[in-house]
Amino acid sequence: MPKIIIPGDRTQKQPVTAFCINPECLEASDRKRFEFPVEHADVACPKCGATEAPMVGVLALTHFLHRNPQGKIVGMGGLRYQLACDQSRAYLATLTNEEAATDQLRAVNCPGCLKAAAEKKLKDKQGMMIDEAVLKRLEQTNPG
Ligand SMILES: [Zn+2]
Ligand SMILES: [Zn+2]
Repeated sequence: MPKIIIPGDRTQKQPVTAFCINPECLEASDRKRFEFPVEHADVACPKCGATEAPMVGVLALTHFLHRNPQGKIVGMGGLRYQLACDQSRAYLATLTNEEAATDQLRAVNCPGCLKAAAEKKLKDKQGMMIDEAVLKRLEQTNPG
């Protein structure tokens, strides 16, 4: 079984969250996995010590992609976009970085993007916005 290692091309601007699906580690019966922050390159569950897939894994980081005429990411028809948390980044996801991008705020889990979306009052295609209340709740569940 492969040991889980944080992909080398994963953005270092956002925290990495990993998960463990060992039933012993679940904190509530309605949860499917126990999530924990990762600070080192090797992923190990702080509760049971699991280090191998599929018991543990790195959560995909989903960024918010939004239109910006100065953005570095070129989409259909030459429209330009940027990731909310990183205007200078010129690519979305690679095959290995476990990152993704979406234009639907509901699917975003990148803390940097959610914060930027709330601060700049960005709307997605469905007209959804991240408001301060949602942001506060996020900060409470992910301190730091
Ligand atoms: Zn565990
Ligand atoms: Zn982001």
